[in-house]
Amino acid sequence: MSETVRSEELQRKYAAERDKRKAARGSKEEDYVRLEKVIDPDAQDPYKAVEPREPLNDDVEVTIIGAGWAGLMSAAELRKSHRKIRILDQAGDFGGVWYWNRYPGVMCDTASVVYMPLLDETGYKPTEKYAHGPEIFAHAQRIGRHFDLYKDAYFHTRVTDLRWDEAAKRWRITTNRGDEFTSQFVSLGLGALNVPRLPSFEGMKDFKGDWFHTARWDYSVTGGNPEGAPLDKLHDKTVAIIGTGATAIQIVPELAKTAKKLLVIQRTPTAVDVRDNGPITYDWWDELTQQEGWQQIIYDNFLDLVEEYKVGNFPPEGTVDLLDDGWTNIGISFMEKIRSIEGELTPEKIKAATIEWDDEMQQRIRDRTDEEIADKKTADGLKAWYRRWCKRPGFHDEYLETFNRDNVELVDTDGQGVGRITENGVEVLGEEYPVDVIIYSTGFHYNRNASKDAFFDIVGRNGVVLRDKWKDGMLSYMGYFSRDFPNLFFQQSVQAAFLTSNVSQNYAEGSRALRAVVDHTLDAGKTTFEASQKAEEEWVHMIETEGEVADDPECTPGYYNNEGKEIGLEQKRSIGYPKGKKAFFDLVKDWRSQDELAGIEIA
Ligand code: NDP
Repeated sequence: MSETVRSEELQRKYAAERDKRKAARGSKEEDYVRLEKVIDPDAQDPYKAVEPREPLNDDVEVTIIGAGWAGLMSAAELRKSHRKIRILDQAGDFGGVWYWNRYPGVMCDTASVVYMPLLDETGYKPTEKYAHGPEIFAHAQRIGRHFDLYKDAYFHTRVTDLRWDEAAKRWRITTNRGDEFTSQFVSLGLGALNVPRLPSFEGMKDFKGDWFHTARWDYSVTGGNPEGAPLDKLHDKTVAIIGTGATAIQIVPELAKTAKKLLVIQRTPTAVDVRDNGPITYDWWDELTQQEGWQQIIYDNFLDLVEEYKVGNFPPEGTVDLLDDGWTNIGISFMEKIRSIEGELTPEKIKAATIEWDDEMQQRIRDRTDEEIADKKTADGLKAWYRRWCKRPGFHDEYLETFNRDNVELVDTDGQGVGRITENGVEVLGEEYPVDVIIYSTGFHYNRNASKDAFFDIVGRNGVVLRDKWKDGMLSYMGYFSRDFPNLFFQQSVQAAFLTSNVSQNYAEGSRALRAVVDHTLDAGKTTFEASQKAEEEWVHMIETEGEVADDPECTPGYYNNEGKEIGLEQKRSIGYPKGKKAFFDLVKDWRSQDELAGIEIA
């Protein structure tokens, strides 16, 4: 293969699009506000009424904060050791993001058999290759029932303070429901991309029509329901949806079916590849699912094909792709490209092949817009001019063709975003677009630092506040523990596996680690576990010195590169285990199977 580099023309185009977007107003994290700051967090559940209950004033063994996948999987695992648990969540049921995100068309674009946890233990077979939201939410409820978790769950309960009591060797927990109880152990599963964010546009408060964020869909405005009933209140409405990320590409086809007029307001296009959804027809299903713990095989296969190549770990040639989907195809096509290099594998040849592979893939997806969309200007406007891993890949079968409808218009802001909101609508590049409804599909805070995700203070031994301790980034041991915060477990992936394409595998491994540390402590008749100072320092040092920050400043800004911000200490600490995800999982597995948990002081 010849040593190619990206053509200068393409390089210039990528740089120009990035620079436009970098100069856009409202493109920094500080330009967003958390939805909870705008809407009272205690009065915002449109799906379920808050049931009155007596405050809790007792003592429990393990409290799990957050009832999404992290909380559910932690609870299910701890059940196996018959621990006395309590689960708290501000939502009205299990499910986390799947409780809140009930927008029309909601689905998961990671394969169901990878994304939906505990399929093996609950015996559930998803109906679709990529399940829709209601089925995923129902699965969260199924896990709740299967492991008998409802009796220990307190919903519509928001923690307001979490404080270590050294004398009692307990965490003191207070909530918005008047609860004041103690808990020996606490596991935090607060999610990573679940705090809705709104841009702080000038004039937002002046808008006279209806508006909402996609994560709090208001069916009283649109009509319809999450199960797919038509949005029948939109027939005479002009609707603007702001944003074209993974959420919007699922919503746009649904809005287009009924809205009188739909304006899709775009700052940066998503590269939208084929989804090819349908019923599950895996030929391995009947045989493989006979094996106990079969889902781990699927997890590992996905990991091998989607993530491991990024750290140079190619699975053996001929490894069967059990999923055959968009994510695995990205990895497979990359590995094929590298394997096609003739002669010695030099870094130069690898770099050239990588560029060629990336350019071919992105061009194929850009060509897709021409194939799907009749109007050339619209097709051009939807083309993504950046590298494959600059922004989260999108997959959808109807999004692009929706732009062929007469009632749908792409409002391309040329990288600048919305100028301001007026009484009557949205202003873009100086032009006002009058609308009846504005839907903010503007995403979520992507926090790589659990101290910032929490709305409450976490106060450890000697009054150490987690937010202060982590002000320059996370200081942890294995991502799970932090010194001065005894008996506290972080169910999250930073400084751990950092597996973003399949969050469930992080929590599967994390749950086993949580159970191991709780079991070790209690089975030894002890009271506390805590990371040693030395273990934490060495872990953070290893992260800082051996890890590579993927926040590529050459990319167009987005949450994959921390909105293009300069790389500081916090970013250097906000990465995964340097040797890769599989190596991390192996390390944890080995760690928890030892008689003594290395790096942990049990007292
Ligand atoms: P994103 O952050 O991906 O998208 C937000 C969108 O809002 C972007 O298009 C952004 O533009 C746009 N935007 C933000 N501010 C402005 C502004 N001032 N003016 C104009 N446009 C603006 O959020 P999503 O909710 O779409 O997705 C978030 C994540 O949630 C996904 O990446 C994914 O991880 C997860 N998700 C997963 C799904 C799945 O199927 N597995 C489905 C949906 C979401 P710009 O790109 O220029 O910043």
